[in-house]
Amino acid sequence: MAAALGALLLSCGGEGSATRGSAALRPGGEAPGGEATSAEWQPAELEPGTPVAQYGQLRVEGSALVSSTGEPVQLKGVSTMWLNWEQNFAGSKSGLRWLRDNWGLRVVRAAMGIEPMNAYLTNPDAMAAQLRNVVRNAIDLGVYVIIDWHDHDAQSHQQQAVDFFSRMAAEFGEYPNVFYEVYNEPLQVSWSQVLKPYHEAVTAAIRERDPDNVIILGTPTWSQSVNQAADDPLAGSNLMYTVHFYSCSHRIQQRSLAQYAQGKGLPIFVTEWGATAADGGTNPSGEVCVEEAQAWHDWMDAAGISWTAWKLDDCNDLSCFFRPSASPNGGWSDEWLNGHGPFVRERMLQQ
Ligand code: MG
Repeated sequence: MAAALGALLLSCGGEGSATRGSAALRPGGEAPGGEATSAEWQPAELEPGTPVAQYGQLRVEGSALVSSTGEPVQLKGVSTMWLNWEQNFAGSKSGLRWLRDNWGLRVVRAAMGIEPMNAYLTNPDAMAAQLRNVVRNAIDLGVYVIIDWHDHDAQSHQQQAVDFFSRMAAEFGEYPNVFYEVYNEPLQVSWSQVLKPYHEAVTAAIRERDPDNVIILGTPTWSQSVNQAADDPLAGSNLMYTVHFYSCSHRIQQRSLAQYAQGKGLPIFVTEWGATAADGGTNPSGEVCVEEAQAWHDWMDAAGISWTAWKLDDCNDLSCFFRPSASPNGGWSDEWLNGHGPFVRERMLQQ
C-alpha cells in the first residue's frame, strides 16, 4: 500500500506526466490514453514458496547474484516477444502462473520494443501500459521481472531512456521483484566511448529513485563482446552485464569472450538465448542446435549464471516455445511445444 501510494506520488514526473497527474486526482480513474493508473492496482500478498518469497531482495556480490541472506541464486525464466508485436502471451497472468508452477519459472523479461513503428518512441503510453501489466503480474505472482529497453540504438534515445527508467524506478523500485535492463543489444559501437557513458547516465537516473535493485547493462556486438565491458566496467553497486547467445550461430568463439569476462569477475546475466540461429530461427526448416546450447548451459550452470530464454510466443520460429494457435494461458502439454521449447523446459526444470 505504502509502495503503491509512493509510486502514485512519484509517477507525476517525466513523459506524459500531465496525463498521469490528472488521472491521479481521480481515485481509481484511468488516464485518457487508456493507461491504468497506479491507483487501480494493489499488489497481491506475497505467496509463500514463490521465488521472491524464497530469495527476497537480490544483490550482486562479487560476480554472483545472491539472495537477501547472501545465498547464491540462479534465476531461470523466459523473455516475452517484443511487446509491440505480441501481447497475448506476454500479458497473460495465468500463463505466467502456469510457467511458475509447471516449468519452475523464476523470472520473466518484458521486452519493450523501442524503435519499430508503434513501439515505445511512437506509442509510449500504450507500450508503458503493457510493460506495467507484465511487471504487475510478476509482482502479484512472486516472480522476478526484467524491465527491458529493447533497443539496438539506445544511445540515440538516451533522454527517453533516462525519463522512462526514472519513472519505472519511482514506481517499482521498492519491489524486490524488479531488474532494469537498460539496453538490450547494442550494435558494433564502442564500449568505452558510447555504451559506458550511456549506461552511466541511465544508471544514475535509476539510482536517484531506487538505490538497490539490480541493473543489467548491454554490451557491444548484440551483447556478445562482454569482454570489452570486463576491461572497463562501470563504478557502482548491483550492476550486471548481459551476454546473448543463439547456439547455431554463436559457439566457442563467443563463449570464450563471455568466459574471459566471467573469469575477470564480471557479474553476468544472460537475458536472451536460443538453441537456434541468431535470427531466432525464423526458418522453420532450419536447425535446433541443442548440443552447442548445452555447452553454454554447462558454463552458465558452473558459474551460477541466471538467464531468460527467447521467447514466450506461439509461432513457427524455432525460438517460439509453442506451436501456432497455442493458448496463451498455460496447460501446454508436449504436443504444443515447438522448436527449442522442449530444451528450454528441460533446462528450466533442472534446478
Ligand atoms: Mg529498490
